[in-house]
Amino acid sequence: IYVSPDEATQKNGVQWIEKWKQIRKAENEQKHKAAETLDGRHIDVVCNIAKPEDAKLVLENGGEGVGLLRTEFLFESSTAEPTVEAQCESLKAIVEELGSRQLIVRTADIGGDKPVSWLHIPHENNPFLGMRGIRLSFKYEAMFRRQLEAIYRTALWQTETTGSTGLHIMFPMIGRISEWNKARDIAESVRLQVDAPQLPLGIMIEVPSAVMVAEDLAKEVDFFSIGSNDLTQYTMAIDRLHPDLCNEADSYHPALVRMIEMTVKAARSHGKWVGVCGNAAANPNMATLLVGLGVTELSVSPADAASVKNMIRAVNYLKLKEKAIKALQLESSEAVMELYKNNDDLF
Ligand code: PEP
Ligand code: MG
Repeated sequence: IYVSPDEATQKNGVQWIEKWKQIRKAENEQKHKAAETLDGRHIDVVCNIAKPEDAKLVLENGGEGVGLLRTEFLFESSTAEPTVEAQCESLKAIVEELGSRQLIVRTADIGGDKPVSWLHIPHENNPFLGMRGIRLSFKYEAMFRRQLEAIYRTALWQTETTGSTGLHIMFPMIGRISEWNKARDIAESVRLQVDAPQLPLGIMIEVPSAVMVAEDLAKEVDFFSIGSNDLTQYTMAIDRLHPDLCNEADSYHPALVRMIEMTVKAARSHGKWVGVCGNAAANPNMATLLVGLGVTELSVSPADAASVKNMIRAVNYLKLKEKAIKALQLESSEAVMELYKNNDDLF
């Protein structure tokens, strides 16, 4: 941000905006084309959404499904816990837009920076390190079960009406295998109660301990989705919202790059796929690093889908892999950023 820019800065800004508009126009013209690298590697570019109204934007902007439905927003926007029926209605509205395309529903990640007014969580000195995500779901297990019931009921309805469902369930903030076991067991008991079809069950990788035990988790889960926002915050011990420090919490840090590689390796050795649904996936240069590390799904906001797809189509996967190997040897964020500053070497 330039406050009171001089004439030259203003002119420069206007020129930049014009150039940016042209780039966006070109990207938008190709937004419905698949994201396939020059040498034929397909990457699923899907979207992050929060509300039923967002679902329309996914397909309009070239998204191929939903990689993250942040359901906590359905809870935040009401004055009491939404009933199972209300939750079903919201999910059905999204499913009606998406058809049988993938829809990963993340169970409510309440707490941290996403408090809910009607849920009286006692004051915590460090809410990001407190009652959040799956921990809160276990504390309010009946509420967790009602949310799972809504998801499974929607899956049953979609399967009965269309013959298939793209619904997946994902648990946030899993940091230990016992949390996964408990979440899976609760989900399975709700499924049996509803008599719904089995859905793929996955977890967010956003707590560093999950990376360290990714080999064990990968045996069990159907997929991983890396939450680079929280994974960065918890790895760097920097509050993702801190006004002075958040710029230092960048996902180019070698610790993050190596953790992503560890996660992909663990998943691959058990035949599972890895996506990224944090903000890192929406930066086209960072996206090339993620794909080079073996990530096969990028989940971004609908507004970013076209530019990420465009970048994937412009590059060569084998070269991305070679470049990622180089990135894994580097010792600073600056060095990784410099390596990915331009992608001329990837065409
Ligand atoms: C993340 O942590 O990267 C993520 C996608 O989850 P949220 O931003 O909702 O915490
Ligand atoms: Mg998160």
